[in-house]
Amino acid sequence: MTPKRMTEPDSQSQEILHTWRKIFEKKYSNELDAISRYEEDVFGFNVEWEDLVGSQLHSLFPNNPNKALDLGNQVLLEQFQNRNCRTIPKIRIVDLPDDFHYVIDDLRMRDANRLLNFDAVVTKVDNPMGWLKVSKYTCRDCGHVWEIEQRLARERIRAKYCSICLEELLAKSKKERFIPPENIEMVVHENEYSDVQYVELSSPLGLSNIDEAYNIRAVISDEYVGTLKPGSRININAFVRIDHLPNRDYQLDTRRVLLLDIHSIEFGFKYYRYSLD
Ligand SMILES: [Zn+2]
Repeated sequence: MTPKRMTEPDSQSQEILHTWRKIFEKKYSNELDAISRYEEDVFGFNVEWEDLVGSQLHSLFPNNPNKALDLGNQVLLEQFQNRNCRTIPKIRIVDLPDDFHYVIDDLRMRDANRLLNFDAVVTKVDNPMGWLKVSKYTCRDCGHVWEIEQRLARERIRAKYCSICLEELLAKSKKERFIPPENIEMVVHENEYSDVQYVELSSPLGLSNIDEAYNIRAVISDEYVGTLKPGSRININAFVRIDHLPNRDYQLDTRRVLLLDIHSIEFGFKYYRYSLD
């Protein structure tokens, strides 16, 4: 794999990389040795919440999961490669403490962006699909290559000019007018795609009355795609996100729905107990 970032990581990122390295080396080295025999394309690697406590990851993961996980996945990939394993690992944080537990029916807009834990029943499963996660561009003039991270179900962000050529132009032309360096193109075969699948969930309380159950849309990614069926009973850790109505977009319609962006799944309920009758 080509390195993702050409520049040195900033000091906060260096510290986070170091923290992840410590966690994997101290707590997971036996597991990592065992996993080197795996031959899957993508493999979910469970990390206990407990192992984040006492480090900056403890607050970074709930508040900036992309940063925490991007850096962690980078370190984990190194660990896999050191063991000659070609599988791409994905960190899945599991076993969140009880105070993250929440009930699907109680979700409201004020809960947006919270990381919460739910027992849930899968009520509907859509077809798997892909999305453009990272698009790559190159400058025809100077050869500079860069990436743009896209967001799921949002308008694609397009590159407008080459930042290297622009810097040069600015240095040369002082404050005169100039044409921005737009001689760029997308490197289509190097774009990165990811698998996702939309599902619908209801709280286990809806099991007894499926017609009246409140359903919420949720999205799963990578190794989880294809693993859920209607009726699956699961416990999930998910970020609560705000989404537009299906078949609408943010510009056309102000109505919003909540969407669960599922980070990790454990099978079976953790909190809900059946009544005996
Ligand atoms: Zn350029």
